[in-house]
Amino acid sequence: MKTRFIVSGAKSACLMDAAHIIRSGGLVVFPTETVYGLGGDATNAESAKKIYAAKGRPSDNPLIIHIDRPESAEPYAVTNEYYYRLAEKFMPGPLTVILPRKDTIPKETAGGLDTVAVRCPSHPIAHAFIEACGVPVAAPSANLSGKPSPTNAADVLADMDGRVDMIIDGGDSEIGLESTIVKLDGDCGILLRPGAVTVDALRCVLREVKVDPAVTGSLPADAHPLSPGMKYRHYSPDTPLVLLDGNDSDVLEFMKKTSDDAILICFDDEAAVLAGHRIIPVGSREDLSEEAHRLFSALRMADRMGAKVIYGHLPKKNGIGLALYNRMIRAAAHTVRKV
Ligand code: AMP
Ligand code: MG
Repeated sequence: MKTRFIVSGAKSACLMDAAHIIRSGGLVVFPTETVYGLGGDATNAESAKKIYAAKGRPSDNPLIIHIDRPESAEPYAVTNEYYYRLAEKFMPGPLTVILPRKDTIPKETAGGLDTVAVRCPSHPIAHAFIEACGVPVAAPSANLSGKPSPTNAADVLADMDGRVDMIIDGGDSEIGLESTIVKLDGDCGILLRPGAVTVDALRCVLREVKVDPAVTGSLPADAHPLSPGMKYRHYSPDTPLVLLDGNDSDVLEFMKKTSDDAILICFDDEAAVLAGHRIIPVGSREDLSEEAHRLFSALRMADRMGAKVIYGHLPKKNGIGLALYNRMIRAAAHTVRKV
């Protein structure tokens, strides 16, 4: 398949072409504020099958449906008061809500589940594109299954060239980590995937928010987690990643003693001390949003640089740190070294 690459993504003629591709059963990669999405018509079972094939994704790992405004969920999901309370505070934005599924969404899109994941992105290109489609857009992250999600068009192209009909370039993703996923249960919620909308923020709307054990723990091989994606290897660079657990000065001492075989994902203020080593700085330690913004492209860059091992800090679990912890611990296949 020849992939059309659109640089000036916001031009309306291009978005009309992109919407036409979706309605004809094709696939379009589009930018969002979290990561790039690999979109198809969520109401078309054949489109869902094409998405799974393009990613090499197991078909029991359900897709999130993307809508232009919160009310657009009505034909596809059984909404309730708490969905709209969450929507009022966090939509459009990086929050996905799991609701009971209506039959307008085929079971192929939902990985066979009787629920459906709904999200309303805030990125202007994503919004205009979804609105032009006139159908909800099913979209997982636009990476090959298991790889770090793409946060810029070059990383999309590396995985998806020849696998999709069109790629719309919208520059660097603002947030850089996938959306927060919460499953509603009355006036309470279960956090299935942490993201930029934090647990504390959700607790301002919901009476209680439990964190699913799969968010921080490792799962036995035969587990059936609430979010099927949690059981798959994900976010992984090809090079083994090892997370260093210790206070900042001990981690820095360890990093200083590593050889040329290692790539070090470090904070900006460590770069000078680590001069001569192969480093990828990911921002200041006070600004975890910056680390989130840069993490996935750093993991992909580390692979391109080539090394025997990548070392990084084990993130703390507060605020957006919980999302960083969740992505990094899985990218590292739970390999943690005490220092
Ligand atoms: P991605 O599409 O790559 O952002 O991954 C979507 C994530 O949402 C996966 O981990 C899925 O397992 C999860 N997900 C999608 N739909 C549902 C659902 N109905 N119930 C629980 N988790 C879901
Ligand atoms: Mg993904």
